[in-house]
Amino acid sequence: MTLPPWSLGVFTSIDAGLGVRLEVARELGVPSIQLHTPHAEGRTPAAAEAFLKKLEEAGIELTCVFGGFEGESYADIPTVERTIGLVPAETRASRLAEMKEISDFTRLLGCSVIGLHVGVVPHDRNSKEYADVIEITRQLCDHAAYNEQNVHLETGQETAEALLHYIEDVARNNLFINFDPANMILYGTGEPIPALKLVGKYVRSVHCKDGTWSDQPGVTWGCEVPLGQGDVNIREYLQTLKEIGYTGPLTIEREIPQEPERQKAEVLHATSLLTQLRKEILGS
Ligand code: MG
Repeated sequence: MTLPPWSLGVFTSIDAGLGVRLEVARELGVPSIQLHTPHAEGRTPAAAEAFLKKLEEAGIELTCVFGGFEGESYADIPTVERTIGLVPAETRASRLAEMKEISDFTRLLGCSVIGLHVGVVPHDRNSKEYADVIEITRQLCDHAAYNEQNVHLETGQETAEALLHYIEDVARNNLFINFDPANMILYGTGEPIPALKLVGKYVRSVHCKDGTWSDQPGVTWGCEVPLGQGDVNIREYLQTLKEIGYTGPLTIEREIPQEPERQKAEVLHATSLLTQLRKEILGS
């Protein structure tokens, strides 16, 4: 199945992550989803088959499976540095092994993209820590390539410049970007629109999410808000996606699973905002 340009999507969860349930995606009528990986016990061939059947019945295409790990916490920015992704040294080997399993499970789902927050990449490009993170990313990319998959890095924890250096240093042709404009604001890593222009050639999937700046960017979190109500400027975001030639899905994220009714209502609102803007900007 090939999706038309800028098909709407929503970030979904089964038993982990901050997305909506597949049933909600179905009710919203979106043609695509990204999925937060289920926990290890849910990554079986039988579970994959059952999920694929549900997708087929709903007429929904799975465009990316996101990895996530036990022990990760987004409590505050220093905790993110300590706990997220493949960067923390203590869990690096076990998480690489798990990410490879997630890649295998993604293959069972017939999906050719895995995504992840790699963590806060060390800033000193001459350090051993940086070389170690580059090496582990190569190992992940090579495993994904074996599964005929691309790896999409979620943005936010790096500036656009640092992300470009990192991708170029990994030097694998299946490493790309899942661009999340709100994360740049929430983490205080830079204005999202110029960042998108800078890394545009690597952007292969995107999140449509909005946020407001912290009064201490990079020190404390900004605030995630409903699409269109934050500092991203969604119209300009879509215009820039057009400029860089992006034709993939527009996957809505609203990370308030603790309030499922509100989450659904705000995702629904985001679908109508994006539909209207797509009409204006893309003419379809
Ligand atoms: Mg995101």
